[in-house]
Amino acid sequence: MTDKSQSCDQKCSSCSSCSDHSCSEARAKEARFLAQMAKIKHKILVLSGKGGVGKSTVAVNLALSLALEGRRVGLLDVDIHGPSIPTMMGLKGAHAAFANDRIIPLEVANVKVISVDFFLENTDDALIWRGPMKQGAIQQFLEDVEWGELDYLLIDCPPGTGDEPLSVCQLIKGDTHAIVVTTPQEVAAADVRKSINFCEQLGLPIVGIIENMSGFVCPHCNKVTNIFKQGGGENLAAKAKLPFLGRIPIDPLIAECSDAGSPMIHKHPDSAMAKAFADIIQPLLALPEE
Ligand code: ADP
Repeated sequence: MTDKSQSCDQKCSSCSSCSDHSCSEARAKEARFLAQMAKIKHKILVLSGKGGVGKSTVAVNLALSLALEGRRVGLLDVDIHGPSIPTMMGLKGAHAAFANDRIIPLEVANVKVISVDFFLENTDDALIWRGPMKQGAIQQFLEDVEWGELDYLLIDCPPGTGDEPLSVCQLIKGDTHAIVVTTPQEVAAADVRKSINFCEQLGLPIVGIIENMSGFVCPHCNKVTNIFKQGGGENLAAKAKLPFLGRIPIDPLIAECSDAGSPMIHKHPDSAMAKAFADIIQPLLALPEE
């Protein structure tokens, strides 16, 4: 047996000789986690510098668009303090089930969904959690949820560069990318640059930038009014030498569908938004397998 006090670096994967019981348990746990991560081909963090730019809306509709292409998709909501995925997916008030000590994700339109909301008795309860508690919850969502084999796990992060995206980046193993969502205004773009720097510092490759709320198409005359200017996302992408994935117009139906829990991609498959997503997902579909 290795003398743990002298040589154990607490990284069980680096040690094969230790027979300490807690160490071997930790090794088995880590092996299970690595096996679980290996079953998920691509993990995609959906990030934004600011709240309210449509990050969750994008995450939901990306997940559904990929599922419509026949891909196996999971959607993990790590927005611990303001989860909106359950409402948008029509799962408000739903609870996760458990089987054999594993968490069974809820499923909508072939997308497996997990959010902290599914574990609250009352969905209006406020979670007052500090960093380590949030990290523990995110770890459980990655480790203990029965995701099964997935082509994509979309991870909807809270806005900014705080604990949650950092925890995901530190915990997750294997092929991981980010998609950054912005609106066209310069104030949003300034915050998005921080998200881009965050990804660069963590070595997280960015698939590209999506510009949401890009121009309002009048439902009566089809005239486009650029309420928030246009081109902020594209300029940002050009400056950061990142792909620009596409723009999604402002459409009151998008908010209506989100509130009703009936995602736009399904309810209005011929909408400009649905068409935009058909193009936006192409780089994701083209991601090489590890
Ligand atoms: P975030 O996750 O960045 O905080 P959400 O996805 O929750 O933003 O979107 C904020 C609000 O804006 C929601 O009510 C959503 O329905 C609405 N919304 C998002 N994108 C659009 C859009 N393109 N057109 C109209 N409303 C939108």
